[in-house]
Amino acid sequence: MTSTRPAGPDADADPAQAPAALPGTELLDALLAGTDPDDDPVTHVHRLPARPSRTAEWPSWVSAPLREELAGRGVLAPFSHQVAAAELARAGQHVVVATGTASGKSLAYQLPALTALAEDPRACVLYLAPTKALARDQLASVAALADPSVRPAAYDGDTPQEEREWVRRHSRWIVTNPDMLHRGILPAHQKWSSTLRRVAYVVIDECHAYRGVFGSHVGHVLRRLRRICRRYGAEPVFVLASATVADPALAAGRLVGAPVTAVTDDGSPRPGATFALWEPPLTEKTGEHGAPLRRSAAADAAGLLADLVEQNARTLAFVRSRRGAESVAEQARTILRSRGRADLVSRVDSYRGGYLPEERRELERSLSTGKLLGVATTNALELGIDIAGLDAVVLAGYPGTLASLWQQAGRAGRAQTESLVVFVARDDPLDHYLAHHPRAVFGRPVEATVTDPANPYVLGPQLCCAAAELPLVPADLADFGGEVAVAQIEELVADGLLRSRPAGWYWAGRGRPDVDIRGSGGAAVSIIEGATGRLLGTVDGDASHATVHTGALYVHRGETYVVDEFDVEDACAVVHPESPEWTTVARDTVDLSIVSVDRTRRLGAVTAHTGVVDVTNQVVAYQRRRLGTGEVLAEFPLDLPARQLRTRAVWLTLDDRAVARADVDDVALPGSLHAAEHASIGILPLLATCDRWDLGGISTALHPDTGAATIVVYDGHPGGAGFAERGYAVLRDWLQATRATVASCECESGCPSCVQSPKCGNGNDPLDKGGAVRVLDVVLDELARAPELTPEEAAMTRPPAPRSGLFGTSGPAAPAADTADDPGAADPVAPEPEPQPDPEDLVF
Ligand SMILES: [Zn+2]
Ligand SMILES: [Zn+2]
Repeated sequence: MTSTRPAGPDADADPAQAPAALPGTELLDALLAGTDPDDDPVTHVHRLPARPSRTAEWPSWVSAPLREELAGRGVLAPFSHQVAAAELARAGQHVVVATGTASGKSLAYQLPALTALAEDPRACVLYLAPTKALARDQLASVAALADPSVRPAAYDGDTPQEEREWVRRHSRWIVTNPDMLHRGILPAHQKWSSTLRRVAYVVIDECHAYRGVFGSHVGHVLRRLRRICRRYGAEPVFVLASATVADPALAAGRLVGAPVTAVTDDGSPRPGATFALWEPPLTEKTGEHGAPLRRSAAADAAGLLADLVEQNARTLAFVRSRRGAESVAEQARTILRSRGRADLVSRVDSYRGGYLPEERRELERSLSTGKLLGVATTNALELGIDIAGLDAVVLAGYPGTLASLWQQAGRAGRAQTESLVVFVARDDPLDHYLAHHPRAVFGRPVEATVTDPANPYVLGPQLCCAAAELPLVPADLADFGGEVAVAQIEELVADGLLRSRPAGWYWAGRGRPDVDIRGSGGAAVSIIEGATGRLLGTVDGDASHATVHTGALYVHRGETYVVDEFDVEDACAVVHPESPEWTTVARDTVDLSIVSVDRTRRLGAVTAHTGVVDVTNQVVAYQRRRLGTGEVLAEFPLDLPARQLRTRAVWLTLDDRAVARADVDDVALPGSLHAAEHASIGILPLLATCDRWDLGGISTALHPDTGAATIVVYDGHPGGAGFAERGYAVLRDWLQATRATVASCECESGCPSCVQSPKCGNGNDPLDKGGAVRVLDVVLDELARAPELTPEEAAMTRPPAPRSGLFGTSGPAAPAADTADDPGAADPVAPEPEPQPDPEDLVF
């Protein structure tokens, strides 16, 4: 029951070995001692007050033995939110508990689920986790609490073949993941029928992890699960757990495809903290077009780690890549050595472990006892690890979502004194914005989790999967999107993928539908080590041109490789291991045409639209950039074919009056629109759970399809992932934040923190920073006068989109083994997507 234990020093900790560090505010003062006030990197300090706990009575239906078992683990009374969620689930309502890190969300589902298992000796529970580490932790927790007859067990890619049948036959608490449900369990539902007919609860832990295209697929996997359970006579209750997200009921409802009640009033105690926003200062170094560059976030994080260790503060530093984490730890050790603190060098390490629980337990112990004082880590330590009670946490760069930021920050927290959290901004628009807009960090719920189950590139293949499991009948279609699904089925029938019979729609393809719920389309590209012929892994076909082109630096499981040759036709890239002092960034060109307009908002001289676009994208060159500074070392042309993408976009058109009011002439207009486009792409991830790499854009003084000055931002995934539509729905907030980012940047004419983009196909030229601010001012002025969108207008309901080639290039039905259960692949869970190194990640 790790998650309900109040944060505090570990019982095993030896206080003599780890004397208490200073309280957060004093630690921060110590870090800043001797800093020139003109160079003060701290942009804001926020105090998070301690919050006392609120507990509630045990529900009357919780059995005495379970209560006693929990009391033995120190849980004397449940928190109010645990009881509220448990009561709803017990009453048969789907519920999402969206409360803070370490608030004990697991008890909210364990109470009703374990009670149901005790009351009905044949009842079952399915538990889904986004990471194996979390799955193993929860398995241990349930095993300790449950009656022996429950026999909790994992059923995932790591489960040995010989154990799988045992799990299917005997386990009543099955820990699995959406990938296994999709590929293993649902296609073999007959074999699983004795489990599926008795599923009382389906638990979906950390459900904010399911977003974008992957989240949209998972939404359909859950709809398929509900349909199959219904067929066997079961109507399981879904209990979801999430970090605090915006609109949890809405997001969870979209995910499971049924109404979900949210419990958000967090009754757990929270220790106090001092939270500093930190922006490394500009340096003398220059990048593209002479733009000033900031000191890297990784360099400052390494300095902070060394300083904190010297202050005897047990510290975790979160860095985006594993190589970056190693580099930060190494740099911190170098600093300590140079200060004559050789005694501390061995107490700094990087976390390079995998998923093994023993490894993580060992690390927890070392940090608890003070044997280790400073650890640099990737987000691997963000979830499923019990190391609350740390003195300080350093975040080297925004982790991508506020949910992650709070998860990481939540690792700090001592029972008696307040801890310290430092967010170090990277040289990029979103980080820059957050460093200067504390309310965007502290004053709002985290971004909405965006999924779009109506995406035809997701819906079509998922309808095929559903039909292959059990013929689809008209009554099923409401769950899969109603009219959108009807239209989709007609197309699938016309394409010969489904066959219409009196009893329903049948799968008509060969074998089983081969649908990759993690990939967004296109045949996967194999990464092969040239010297050994070893297959290292695969990358998504869509991403391959930008990530594994000839000459690219490619990171796989923390190791770096350089691509010798990328063969587009054979879909493979041959690589060799190398750790150069540079990284690479691909450059692409984009051509875009508008296919259809779904919605339009006229705002005086400006008009906003959302709809379907065709994008022609070509990676034309790549740059080598120096690690640590991002300085461009060289640029190399590439000869890769153009590719087509049909997706969804949001776009703004400005008529002549708007352009005149913005006071940009013909010469300044292209650079002004281009700069506004770059900055808006950099900022959209503030409001939608995406990454700037999930988005693309173009801007032009005269677009042939609109006949006006136009800025387009589009989803980089076939069919869209909901990001562009989210931008349309929150246009004012989005563009206000964009304008503030550009206007507040202290550079003169544009830099990576405001309007330069690391992946611009035009080499960041032309860019007009001042013109961008004036263009955005005109748009915002018009938006201020326009009526707010109604919730219906803002909601992402939309007509079915035209589509083409649902299954990408891999063909409609790749041959598959007849028995879908126990797929041949050892592990159906794709590795966590690994961020490719940004020059900023590393210190040298
Ligand atoms: Zn700037
Ligand atoms: Zn550009």
